[in-house]
Amino acid sequence: MDIQKTTRAQIGGTARRLVVPLVLAAAAIVLPFVLPGDRWVRVAALALIYVALASGLNILVGLTGLLDLGYIAFFIIGAYTTAVLTVKLFVDGLGFDPSDLWWLFPVSLVLALVLSAAAGAIIGYPTLRARGDYLAIMTLAFGEIVRIVSINWVDLTGGAVGIRSIPPLSLGSSSPTSTYYAVLIMVVVILVAVAGLVASPVGRAWVAIREDELVASSMGIKTKRYKLLAYMCGAAVAGITGVFFAHMQQFINPDSFTLEDNFIVLSLVILGGAGTFWGPVVGATLWIFFQAIARDWAIVQEHPEFRTGILALIVIVLMIVRPGGIVRRRLRLTRARHTAPSHDGDDATPLLVDHHPTRQPGVRTLEVHEVSRTFGGLKALRGVTMHIGHGEIVGLMGPNGAGKSTLLNVLSGVTPASSGRISFEGRSLDRAGSAEVSEAGIARTFQTVRLFWDMTVMENLLVGAHGRLKGWVPAFVLRLPKTAKAERAAAVEARNLLRFVGLDDREGDLAKSLDYEGQRRVEIARALMTRPRLLLLDEPAAGMNESETHALAALIVRIRDAGVDVVLIEHDMDLLMGVSDRIIVLDHGVVLADGTPEQIRTNPLVLEAYLGSDA
Ligand code: ADP
Ligand code: MG
Repeated sequence: MDIQKTTRAQIGGTARRLVVPLVLAAAAIVLPFVLPGDRWVRVAALALIYVALASGLNILVGLTGLLDLGYIAFFIIGAYTTAVLTVKLFVDGLGFDPSDLWWLFPVSLVLALVLSAAAGAIIGYPTLRARGDYLAIMTLAFGEIVRIVSINWVDLTGGAVGIRSIPPLSLGSSSPTSTYYAVLIMVVVILVAVAGLVASPVGRAWVAIREDELVASSMGIKTKRYKLLAYMCGAAVAGITGVFFAHMQQFINPDSFTLEDNFIVLSLVILGGAGTFWGPVVGATLWIFFQAIARDWAIVQEHPEFRTGILALIVIVLMIVRPGGIVRRRLRLTRARHTAPSHDGDDATPLLVDHHPTRQPGVRTLEVHEVSRTFGGLKALRGVTMHIGHGEIVGLMGPNGAGKSTLLNVLSGVTPASSGRISFEGRSLDRAGSAEVSEAGIARTFQTVRLFWDMTVMENLLVGAHGRLKGWVPAFVLRLPKTAKAERAAAVEARNLLRFVGLDDREGDLAKSLDYEGQRRVEIARALMTRPRLLLLDEPAAGMNESETHALAALIVRIRDAGVDVVLIEHDMDLLMGVSDRIIVLDHGVVLADGTPEQIRTNPLVLEAYLGSDA
């Protein structure tokens, strides 16, 4: 009965999700018959080219938050790849008849994909280190280099004259309508592929990087790798679009691509709604048709540059009245179904801990030896030596500025230690970054809550599962059953965890819509989704009232009982004394005391340094 109901709900959900794509696809299919004449069919085909370009750039700008002012370079690379291969090599060089070259088109596509993605990697690599303005200038420069090469490498590209007689897209006929349908197929394939990637660990990693790069890496995401991947995917989309464009126009020269196009495509992404799925589609379609209509206006005929001016004006006005762009529908970053909680999972272990064979109660897991950290002249940590035994909740206390957060940052790979050694389960973490520490089995929360605010609670948790869901890009694009199954399993695990932390019905809510306590709990659940064996909590009860604090203490004990060791920084002495098996006191970066709560309570050094300041 229940199963039937869920299945029906799922089918209903799927149908609802497909309404917009199906209606738009139907509209796109009948469009050539509705439009008045071939000129407008050509406009529609051009709109599709811009839809593809804007969707590709959206991967960079909208999803991952990376700027690219030279995006058209990849489009140029794709267009010239097919033009040179087809016309220069096979027709002019090898004497093939253009109408026999139908088999060469897929070859061009693959080659353009490889070359543009390689170019994406080349531009992406150095920009990983640069930020903001530098990044903008570098991408702009790269775009110009590609354009200038296309003008000046005359032997290859035909220089300013360009390359003519490129075979049309549909070999049977070169009518605008059949060209339009060929481009439409490309756009549909690209959009379906992008949608598949977005609702996968890859898309979530991109959005996580945009929202909070540090937290993304503390979830085990290798952020540099995913930024590079974003450049490569964005570039590949532009490269493929370039191939279609060259065959659609049957002619390319450097004038086909201007510096201005970079800004136009970027404007269309922003206009439509950066970081949404349909935004770039809507922005590009509206603009290209508007531009075609405006072409007949007297003022635009006299001053063609007005068109771009109008676009700039529209973008500025829109940014004031509707800052997010035209489309606001947020991206769904998972396809795992939102099902009503089923209660047959009740006795399933809520916390899945991968047990290490050496883990016995009391055995030292984390060992910290003589760790120091200086900031300029300030010694935040001075020769800290400590350990965590399996089965322990270790409280970390000390006055403000004692170095507690710094110690947690060093342990979690956020801040490298200046000197000293750290090992976890026998594995050295001396040089490990956040992502490696997460992979090693240590998770953390932050002193100020840091969630991915624009994601749902479920999506936040699924980012935590990144390490076991990550895989090959084509597997996500093709939505292989195996990846879908892994994602569903992770969603079930997330649901169990949410119940465990007391947030049963909140999986579909946006993280930012939760109250403060809820946000803290999501942050803990997200950390637990990485299946850590050690959890580091930085003042999780800060800002909570007394009853919330008590509930949190109970949760922390349940986490330890489930097999996850805990390091807890806390200001609330009662909470700390109540839950900790052992307490380490830091003061001015030095370990002042290390013992049971009883020992700490009566330690004269602690009383003097910590409590004495209050007295
Ligand atoms: P606690 O968490 O115990 O209150 P912190 O670890 O945050 O203390 O800070 C310890 C000392 O290190 C403070 O004096 C703080 O100002 C300094 N500090 C922490 N992080 C940085 C940083 N990134 N740059 C410079 N100084 C820092
Ligand atoms: Mg702190």
